[in-house]
Amino acid sequence: MFGYLIDMDGVIYRGNELIAGADRFIHELRSSDVPFLFLTNNSQRARRDVATKVRRLGIDVEEQHVFTCAMATAQFLARKKPGGTAYVIGEGGLLTALHTNGYSIVDKDPDYVVVGEGRTLNFEMVEAAVGMILAGAKLVATNLDPNCPTQTGTRPGCGAIVAMLEAATGVKAFSVGKPSPVMLRTARKSLGLTTDQTIVIGDTMETDILGGVQLGFKTVLVLSGGTRPNDLSRYAYTPDLVVDSIADLDHDRLRELFRQVPDSPDGIPPARLERAKWSDAPQAASALHTSSRVS
Ligand SMILES: [Mg+2]
Repeated sequence: MFGYLIDMDGVIYRGNELIAGADRFIHELRSSDVPFLFLTNNSQRARRDVATKVRRLGIDVEEQHVFTCAMATAQFLARKKPGGTAYVIGEGGLLTALHTNGYSIVDKDPDYVVVGEGRTLNFEMVEAAVGMILAGAKLVATNLDPNCPTQTGTRPGCGAIVAMLEAATGVKAFSVGKPSPVMLRTARKSLGLTTDQTIVIGDTMETDILGGVQLGFKTVLVLSGGTRPNDLSRYAYTPDLVVDSIADLDHDRLRELFRQVPDSPDGIPPARLERAKWSDAPQAASALHTSSRVS
């Protein structure tokens, strides 16, 4: 059995545009009862809003199929300090997730300063957060993505806001979103999958693929987002499979491919594997097989 953790932006849509073939792949998973979860490092929207967006693009999903870094962060904090308080720099998705998990939002003496994506930032909020952190509040980030691609260009991401707070206070943030194992392990467990049964599909090396590699999941990089084929040589880790887009994926073929791939030892990245197209899939599997044996 295999199941999937699927990134959203750059994998199933770009902005408000469906990536061709995403609807067919998700339909295939649903009709075969294959477990999957959409994973997003965007904390702006609540899971129901994300599910509605995806449905409007023509993919039939429920809110239970969506797991955001805001949810992962709120669940993590609720386990560490039930009923705690947070000062939030972020938007609805993060506020909703914290409330749902028993947190109160305060603007004085919080247990945590929690930072997510947002366009509502102003200097007074930064100044307040700095004071709280220096007074002992713990700094938590939903994710550290430095920027977000938008239809009109690039806007600063959560990681950029967090960097400003870190610089001002000298305190390092703890981040929960991808590539943190906190979010990825929680997602895997919620699907009832083991490490060896989990396949990550994503378009970003620094989050989706790095997180998957670190946890020993199978990893598939799609080139429909921010990563270009030439970028791959810059990284010390590699995905198990690289395809142009989700349109190239097929559950039965993936299952066949990954059945031939020996499990990678936990924490040790799989050996170097050059870009594999579907036509090369058997070679890709055997390349991995060979290199895992010698490593
Ligand atoms: Mg993405």
